[in-house]
Amino acid sequence: MKPELQNKLFEKYPKIFRQKDLSMQETCMCWGFDCGDGWYNIIDTLCHQIQWHLKHNLKKYEAPEVANVEATQVKEKYGGLRFYYNGGNDFISGLVSMAERLSGKTCEECGAPGGPKKGGWISTLCQSHHDALEERRKLHWETRRLAGDLDRVPTEKLMKGKFDLVEESQNDDGTWKLVFDVDDEFQEWFKEEQGLKRWSSKRFQKVVIEALEHAIEQGESNENNESQDNLSNDP
Ligand SMILES: [Zn+2]
Repeated sequence: MKPELQNKLFEKYPKIFRQKDLSMQETCMCWGFDCGDGWYNIIDTLCHQIQWHLKHNLKKYEAPEVANVEATQVKEKYGGLRFYYNGGNDFISGLVSMAERLSGKTCEECGAPGGPKKGGWISTLCQSHHDALEERRKLHWETRRLAGDLDRVPTEKLMKGKFDLVEESQNDDGTWKLVFDVDDEFQEWFKEEQGLKRWSSKRFQKVVIEALEHAIEQGESNENNESQDNLSNDP
């Protein structure tokens, strides 16, 4: 969860999140909220209800520790929210179950209605965030495969040196930023291969993009064949 939202919750419910400043030996709360922004409203509502209940509804006969509700860890697991805490009573435990259940129907990214989506691991996402994730995953595997394929070009063209994909991220406009790390040996090989006098990032970009587009096209046509054969092939 992004820091602005996280801090808002810490400020609104200082008692429930008292453990946020403890060390990692004492609590998992020091890591903050290990889930997406889309669940902010669920956590906010849950804490609001807990706080209200403790303030107005506690019965005299209840043990004093009931009132000391302190979150010990808030995170995503198997596509659902997990809210671990100390103290509380049956009512509070009911509130927590309700919040955890709701998270399973709410996109973890944006808060829109969603459901469990599979793909390596389970996440609760709306359709558009699911599609974005799929695209990101596809690009990730295709670039990995491309790096592998370049290693296996015919003998006389055997690639020398190394190039690695070190970063991939999507820009706001939907385009991709890929950062490669190429070593000296690879640069030498590439220059020779391309008939260049000196290293050209532009040429490298062009070759990589062409190869990547080709690989993705092939991947897509393979995928279509697979779905026609009704084979499922989860990565
Ligand atoms: Zn979404």
